[in-house]
Amino acid sequence: MSESNLKNMNDLVSLSKRRGFIFQSSEIYGGIGSCWDYGPLGVELKNNIKESWWKTMTYRDDIVGLDASILMHPSVWKASGHVDEFTDPLIDCKKCKMRFREDKVDTAKPCPNCGERDSFTESREFNLMFKTKMGPVEDASADVYLRPETAQGIFVNFLNVQSTMRKKIPFGIAQIGKVFRNEITPGNFIFRTREFEQMEMQFFVAPDTQKDFFEKWKEIRWNWHVGNGLRESRMKWHDHPGTELAHYADIAVDVYYEFPIGWDEIEGIHSRTDFDLGRHQKFSGKKLEYVDQAAGKKYIPYVVETSAGCDRSLLALMCDAYRIENEGDKKNERVVMKFNYKIAPIKVAILPLMKKPELDNVARKILNDIQKNYKTEYDVAGSIGKRYRRQDEIGTPFCVTIDYDTLEDKSVTVRNRDTMEQERISIDRLDQYLKDKLQF
Ligand code: ATP
Repeated sequence: MSESNLKNMNDLVSLSKRRGFIFQSSEIYGGIGSCWDYGPLGVELKNNIKESWWKTMTYRDDIVGLDASILMHPSVWKASGHVDEFTDPLIDCKKCKMRFREDKVDTAKPCPNCGERDSFTESREFNLMFKTKMGPVEDASADVYLRPETAQGIFVNFLNVQSTMRKKIPFGIAQIGKVFRNEITPGNFIFRTREFEQMEMQFFVAPDTQKDFFEKWKEIRWNWHVGNGLRESRMKWHDHPGTELAHYADIAVDVYYEFPIGWDEIEGIHSRTDFDLGRHQKFSGKKLEYVDQAAGKKYIPYVVETSAGCDRSLLALMCDAYRIENEGDKKNERVVMKFNYKIAPIKVAILPLMKKPELDNVARKILNDIQKNYKTEYDVAGSIGKRYRRQDEIGTPFCVTIDYDTLEDKSVTVRNRDTMEQERISIDRLDQYLKDKLQF
């Protein structure tokens, strides 16, 4: 048997739509650029990724969670540097008026949209924050921003969390939430969108200890991606040279994944120094120092941050899981999403061989038992071959088929997604069988 990987993002876009993972937002109105809706399978997959992250990051005694609001006091974004620095260099093509990020096109070449030569304008800085108005009176004082990162919600709550949870440094605060960036060139499906979810953790440490923690977090974060099923052969580190560092960072590295569109970032790990807390202390006038009683000193903590895109991780996991077996061999070709069991949206499919009440009765009893523990799908429509194909394409690890023999021998056929092997299992052993197989 041969196995090949996803070659073209469009194949994934089409599977995502056909099978209910991801739809274009507002599709019946012609869609809206760079916005996507997660369908019934997409939302399961996304929740599993978030749960995996939450468990890794907060089921430990030195990290606690937070869920801060999206709208924050406008001064937050002045203090954080986003009003002045959160910009990308924007250029326009004078002919077709298309806009590009200067660092993403070769300006010595013709316009990638219309082919015109020497048509680019001078570059200017474009702020990526979405601005909106808060309250019924449209005056300047009511300008607020949709947050472009979740981190600031953590920084402004640093003392609230530290004092209420009685945390001692080093400790971290973790958060998952929506963020918004008015990207100049969104695209490549859900790779770059204007609304997405981040999974961020800020780890507060004593000054000058950040390098060790940075190394420690690199390892934990790498292992998290691998633990979800990403193949290490398609991952690498990308260091930020000094010139690429964000305005707040002293060391930074990205986890890169080899997408069909090339290598690109799925997560950033940044040493943010005391920049953020220092700035918030200055702008708010409130002391944000930590009192280290044992050492008898006070200081503004340093921060090591891990910042992963939930949607980017999901895209990488879908690209990685997508396999074509026996490509080109019409009879034996199949597309199968080889998701790690932990993140597979549906764990078990219950498939009565035929649409007959006597099979349906037994199958529904089995369904009721199984779905107490696992996300389960029940499917009676169409040939069994087509139903297996659908389950392969959505990455369901186990299919349970109920046939006429079941009525006699009280057993079912369990089909394994990856090996396609089928085993006969008695109904009263099924629960334990799945428990053993679906351990994660
Ligand atoms: P890029 O250089 O790709 O614009 P960034 O370096 O600005 O990204 P960070 O600010 O470090 O990204 O954000 C952390 C993570 O959030 C990224 O690793 C990525 O997974 C995700 N992310 C950032 N921008 C987007 C976007 N527009 N759409 C989807 N995910 C994004």
